[in-house]
Amino acid sequence: MANDVWIIAEQRNGQIRKVTYELISEARRLADQLSVSVAAVLLGHAIEDKAAALGNYGADKVYVADDQRLASYTTDAYVPVIAELVKAHQPAILLAGASVQGKDLSARLSARLGVGLAMDSTAIQLVDGNLVATRPMYGGKVFAQISLEGNKPQMVSARPNVLSVSEANPSKSAEVEKMAINLDDSALKTKLVEMLADESGRVDLTEAEIIVSGGRGMKEETNFKILEDLADVLGASVGASRSAVDAGWRPHTDQVGQTGKVVTPNLYIACGISGAIQHLAGMGSSKVIVAINKDPDAPIFQKADYGIVGDLFEYVPLLQEELKKLKSQS
Ligand SMILES: Cc1cc2nc3c(=O)[nH]c(=O)nc-3n(C[C@H](O)[C@H](O)[C@H](O)COP(=O)(O)OP(=O)(O)OC[C@H]3O[C@@H](n4cnc5c(N)ncnc54)[C@H](O)[C@@H]3O)c2cc1C
Repeated sequence: MANDVWIIAEQRNGQIRKVTYELISEARRLADQLSVSVAAVLLGHAIEDKAAALGNYGADKVYVADDQRLASYTTDAYVPVIAELVKAHQPAILLAGASVQGKDLSARLSARLGVGLAMDSTAIQLVDGNLVATRPMYGGKVFAQISLEGNKPQMVSARPNVLSVSEANPSKSAEVEKMAINLDDSALKTKLVEMLADESGRVDLTEAEIIVSGGRGMKEETNFKILEDLADVLGASVGASRSAVDAGWRPHTDQVGQTGKVVTPNLYIACGISGAIQHLAGMGSSKVIVAINKDPDAPIFQKADYGIVGDLFEYVPLLQEELKKLKSQS
């Protein structure tokens, strides 16, 4: 129905990604204030069975586009399908994730629809019925309030891990409507040839709840083993500063920062990282930041909630040992 709150669901290999639940939960909160419904748009192949369960988190309806050509995300295939649906139903608000996929999709979609977009937002609220999004700017030095007025839908992409997920209600399922797909094959200029899986087996940094990260202070590639060990105990993912990546110690996919990934874990442990503004741009909105650095004047301590001034080669193994003991006790 017109004026509803919509979200764009994300799936990979047929599995719904966590950011989808965050978006639905937020959409529900907004829709309740506006007394409208929540709908999700789910694109993929053989994913229809996943749709109804999105109702657990507050979706009233799920539009499913099921097609082999939509199995994996490509801009060419996803944008026209969603744009057509949005034009036909005219939701008031459209939320997407500011994940790698969501950033690409929402930018192109907003241009296609001719509407504004508040990208990479960390909070969303309604003021006099209009959406106001909060987004970090200048590497997180300031937070801008972006007011979306005029053309509908008002579009926001939300940073993964910042919006809270409502408790699932398994008794509530969403109405599922299968969409007719109208894709022009000649317009599909890109195709996914191969998906290279992350060999570490760890959760992608953008979705990780805990990240242990290392910088130039790690000294060499093999020393990351102590961070891997700590990450194993915590069930964490391992990140790196650009210096560590440029030195060839870690792959670029591990880089956190302005030219790497933007992460928002519950806990970020920075080891041997000075805290340059470009690094803070990527991890500054982590919920709790712990820094281990031997330099008491390192800028990271200004951002950290907890700091250890000392040699990481002494403190990281110590931390790992103590956490292991705690874990075995519980
Ligand atoms: C356009 C641009 C984009 C950039 N994008 C990014 C980005 O995306 N991500 C990013 O990280 N950087 C980025 N940078 C680089 C950034 O400016 C910094 O150079 C980089 O973050 C520094 O990495 P670092 O903290 O690991 O190294 P350093 O700044 O050299 O810090 C190393 C730290 O380790 C500490 N240390 C050393 N030995 C030990 C020890 N034994 N125990 C404890 N502490 C120890 C030192 O005290 C020091 O504070 C970018 C720069 C530019 C210009």
